[in-house]
Amino acid sequence: MNILLLGSGGREHALAWKLSQSAACSKLFIAPGNAGTAAHGANVNIGVSDFEQIRAFCIENKIDLLVPGSEEPLVKGVYDFFKADAALRHIPVMGPSQAGAQLEGSKAFAKQFMQRHNIPTAAYREFSEENFEEGVAYLRQHSLPIVLKADGLAAGKGVVITSSHEEAVAEFEEMIKAAKFGDASKKVVVEQFLTGIELSVFVLTDGQHYQVLPTAKDYKRIGEGDTGLNTGGMGAISPVPFATDAFMQLVEDRIIRPTVEGLAKEQIIYHGFIFFGLIKVEGEPFVIEYNCRMGDPETEVVVPRLQNDLVELFEAVQRQALNTVAVFEDPRAAATVMLVSQGYPEAYEKGKEITAIPAPARDQLVFHAGTKAEGGKVLTNGGRVLTVTSLASDLQLALAHSKQTAEQIQFEGKYYRRDIGYEFVS
Ligand code: ATP
Repeated sequence: MNILLLGSGGREHALAWKLSQSAACSKLFIAPGNAGTAAHGANVNIGVSDFEQIRAFCIENKIDLLVPGSEEPLVKGVYDFFKADAALRHIPVMGPSQAGAQLEGSKAFAKQFMQRHNIPTAAYREFSEENFEEGVAYLRQHSLPIVLKADGLAAGKGVVITSSHEEAVAEFEEMIKAAKFGDASKKVVVEQFLTGIELSVFVLTDGQHYQVLPTAKDYKRIGEGDTGLNTGGMGAISPVPFATDAFMQLVEDRIIRPTVEGLAKEQIIYHGFIFFGLIKVEGEPFVIEYNCRMGDPETEVVVPRLQNDLVELFEAVQRQALNTVAVFEDPRAAATVMLVSQGYPEAYEKGKEITAIPAPARDQLVFHAGTKAEGGKVLTNGGRVLTVTSLASDLQLALAHSKQTAEQIQFEGKYYRRDIGYEFVS
């Protein structure tokens, strides 16, 4: 079968690496891809939300499966676009309908959904222009710290946590009155602050059944010891040491099953990945956020630990037969360390030559994120440049191997965190 994968990050490199190993995959195309994805298929110069060009490409190249890597095309309705078109309708799309993608695209929608289905999450209220003054009064008497969230997609910057009422009110005003995040902050969710430890849980669902994939934990802050600005993610580990069988049973019973059943009950079409951003509070799981796709860099540790043929899993989704397959996890631990450009997540330079990238090995993979090939060289082309994933008998060893290779790879301005997974190693 011919597969078109949409995206250009480390997540898509990991997915391309995995999809290309399937005997069922005849041709793999990645739009737009990066210097790493080109090793596993053909990069195509089309943007992830350029639906007309994607349409023409799918018809011309007899695409049999569309795999959107990032949320953008899903929230913009790529699933519905395909199903509304007679020439594309037969192509399965591994992702939710636009209605399902609202779990990520609107925090107010996600909170209301969780409330309707009794899924544990932080207590909240939502506000907009209409009840702005009520919102200000609510904030002034709210316990500290206060969590403010722009309703829509805000490139990971729409959440503000503050320990001052004045700051909360100022931020609230900026979001709603000054449209700090454009339409995305017309509505604001004000949430109770939860204290605990976070993890990411991924499932693949066919709308009726689901399979739980390996757990992961990512590290979002730029600085060691989880300090400084938020980034897209500086590294990740899998499995998560505190995601014990008993805890995961709670996650399944209270969160995963009610979510999949809730979507089905509300007749929201959802075939693909659900990413549960969870927090463990005194042993109990709560949902911080839903995403309608895999995480990045979590995919770079989850996919290498997945022993199944990914195309076979996608075929089971398509047949609504996910209950007939089982997920097999590599017992080894995986750790990934992200190499970024100096200055990221603020201004940084591109176009630096990258050297000493090792060849893939059985227990180590380098996934490209912001790279491009030019004149026989590999150049930096983004803030997050590439990530080194290692698999080993324990986490400490996997981290040591990733750091060794992160040290060896060279480009001007290279920076990476040396403390990924620090809470779990001595
Ligand atoms: P992402 O970039 O992960 O998609 P996002 O912009 O969608 O983020 P959230 O994941 O909802 O926003 O929140 C970002 C981070 O803020 C969380 O990972 C968590 O660390 C923190 N956070 C969010 N909500 C809460 C809460 N209720 N209590 C404590 N911390 C929270």
